[in-house]
Amino acid sequence: MKFLITGGAGFIGSAVIRRLINETQHLVVNLDKLTYAGDLQSLESISASERYSFIKGDICDKDTVDKILKEHEPDIIMHLAAESHVDRSIDSPIDFINTNIFGTFVLLEAVRKLNIKKKDILFHHVSTDEVFGDLEDRDQRFSEENPYDPSSPYSASKAASDHLVRSWGRTFDLSYVLTNCSNNFGPYQFPEKLIPNTILKALREEQIPIYGDGKQIRDWLFVDEHAEALIEVAINGKNGETYNIGANNSITNLSLVNMICKIMDDLSPKDKTKCATYSDLITFVKDRPGHDRHYAIDPSKIKNELGWQSKISFEDSLKGTISWYLKNDLWIENILRGKQSLERIGLYEGGKS
Ligand code: NAD
Repeated sequence: MKFLITGGAGFIGSAVIRRLINETQHLVVNLDKLTYAGDLQSLESISASERYSFIKGDICDKDTVDKILKEHEPDIIMHLAAESHVDRSIDSPIDFINTNIFGTFVLLEAVRKLNIKKKDILFHHVSTDEVFGDLEDRDQRFSEENPYDPSSPYSASKAASDHLVRSWGRTFDLSYVLTNCSNNFGPYQFPEKLIPNTILKALREEQIPIYGDGKQIRDWLFVDEHAEALIEVAINGKNGETYNIGANNSITNLSLVNMICKIMDDLSPKDKTKCATYSDLITFVKDRPGHDRHYAIDPSKIKNELGWQSKISFEDSLKGTISWYLKNDLWIENILRGKQSLERIGLYEGGKS
């Protein structure tokens, strides 16, 4: 089968492409605009494969999208291209409206037109648990039936694009699947996000910022497991269905940051001139507006219907991720240089988004 992956140079998209090339025989076309978040270094290991091709382009550009679909005639479009960082969506929502909503519309229209003439392309929209808003009760988890109640411009734009996809399914018979996933972590994540940002700050012995009281609960999934689940849904998911993807790893931001600091105390002991442990660098900063307190995914449906479940322990994958960043500190420096000022990155707590 031929996959068109949008946003394949991003954190999750690149993990999907590495897996498709290394572990399957499928063909992959990667369409990515290479914004600050896109990084072709993450695809160097597979870029020579004859089954892989890269096109630099914008999903909002109708002519580009029409041309690519006509030329490549993919069987599956896995749509990951998005603006994905909540803090940026608060500073400047316009890019989120353009790429996440209008860009999804452009893709849907291109598929609809091609489907009428030629073939039935499956549209897989990769979305987030943030569309469901805030869970009040500590024991609650999001099921696929939860109503949408987004809090930030980012989550509202993802909710809007989810609605567009479902409506193209109902109105125009578009074949689609939709996935909503919890917070991802792993190699090649842009260092504005919580886990790489914490590692980076600790390595530089700079203050590690945490929003508010740090008691916001997030549910974490290792990116390679998300990639595995996405491919499973794309190939075996039922047309018109939504699947929540998560690994039951709920933890407060403060506990997570302390856990990272403890692992780093073991893996990369500091000289202890400034403080005894990396945790001493933790600094609480003013909370961001509209900050949801609690997300958690109920992954029963994907387990019961497609047999997918997380197999890797949270602690092991977190340790593996931290080791990767420790070994690839040059990657972090390279990706920050020429993309964003370090001061700006310093303002962000991160989270998934
Ligand atoms: P990312 O920010 O790392 O990557 C996004 C990619 O999209 C980048 O390579 C960027 O260059 C590309 N892109 C942006 N605008 C584009 C445009 N107009 N045209 C073409 N390409 C464009 O994001 P990510 O963390 O890999 O997330 C991928 C998808 O998964 C997003 O849709 C996000 O909403 C969703 N998601 C992310 C998480 C998470 O924890 N990171 C969790 C659940 C869902």
